[in-house]
Amino acid sequence: MGRVTFSLNDLPLRDDLRGLTPYGAPQAPLPVALNVNENTHPVPDDVASDILDDIAVAIRDVNRYPDREFTTLREAFADYLGHGLTPEQIWAGNGSNEVLQHIFQAFGGPGRTAFGFAPTYSMYPLIAKGTGASWIAGTRQPDYTVTPEEAAEQVRAADPDIVILCSPNNPTGTPLGLDVVEAVYQAARGVVIVDEAYQEFAPRDAASALTLLEGRPRLAVSRTMSKAFAFAGARVGYLAADPAFIDALRLVRLPYHLSALTQAAAVAALRNADVMLGMVQEIVEQRDRITATLEALGYTPHLSWSNFVLFGGVADPQATWQQLYDRGVLVRDVGIPGHLRVSAGTEAETTAFLDALASIGSAS
Ligand SMILES: *Cc1c(COP(=O)(O)O)cnc(C)c1O
Repeated sequence: MGRVTFSLNDLPLRDDLRGLTPYGAPQAPLPVALNVNENTHPVPDDVASDILDDIAVAIRDVNRYPDREFTTLREAFADYLGHGLTPEQIWAGNGSNEVLQHIFQAFGGPGRTAFGFAPTYSMYPLIAKGTGASWIAGTRQPDYTVTPEEAAEQVRAADPDIVILCSPNNPTGTPLGLDVVEAVYQAARGVVIVDEAYQEFAPRDAASALTLLEGRPRLAVSRTMSKAFAFAGARVGYLAADPAFIDALRLVRLPYHLSALTQAAAVAALRNADVMLGMVQEIVEQRDRITATLEALGYTPHLSWSNFVLFGGVADPQATWQQLYDRGVLVRDVGIPGHLRVSAGTEAETTAFLDALASIGSAS
């Protein structure tokens, strides 16, 4: 019996969602997956047992709704971030993507605009459109940097309701100076988000936008446990901002959005922050090794303060992506002509990538 199949076009979908494609980095079961900037080091055994102990306690109470205000977790994030932050300045969600969505729901929405300097994180335009706002793409220098003057100029011209600055920037790895954040904040009428998803991979002495929060109620700094913290599968993201900004997010979150199990796991992981972050230095070393080796192979890697490297000089990115795939290595074609992006893995994974790339031939 033939089953009738339908497509999106058969459904009364919102007009502004027609023609969009969902986020879809391939999830292929390859031995070396370096395509979505995960921390490829597993959670250490001791920490895993410690987290499980807390989850075992929490599971006994899942007949009740969790703490809607995730008080203990907010205290733990305030402690972890330092800079004199208090729990009233912290928000969290199921991944920083959800936290960003809360911001877009509260400060964006139909008839409003969101702005970022392209190329940047591909989820920003999707979250904007999904919540009804339109996305405005600003421009960068050829080396992907932005200067305070041109950033302020572009923000003044676009006059968006939301500005989102990715620091360091995904997919390019480019650092962003605090002078740019200050200039953009001054030029903006709307809220300014600094997405510091990769901050832990920046040089130790690199200043965080957290230092700019005081006296800037329209500024928010978002972070995630997905990258440096080796916690991508647990889905925990968070931000720091003025308590009034946090109150705005309470208007749009679903009640009890952070499950008791997520809260327990995150609090236990934060208690073990030192161990969880123990691999960051090693990942940074692998990133720098990727950069040096790519240069030797004739490619043009871009300066990266994150756990990945974007490199140019790839004659046919799709073909090279496929050749690496056939050798068991998954990287990312981010749609920038002549470029591919690779995450720094363990030493062995990084070697596998570099060997596979070298076996394909040298750069164009
Ligand atoms: C990976 C990433 C995130 C994190 O997303 P989660 O939802 O926390 O996993 C946020 N911003 C950028 C720029 C990223 O690359």
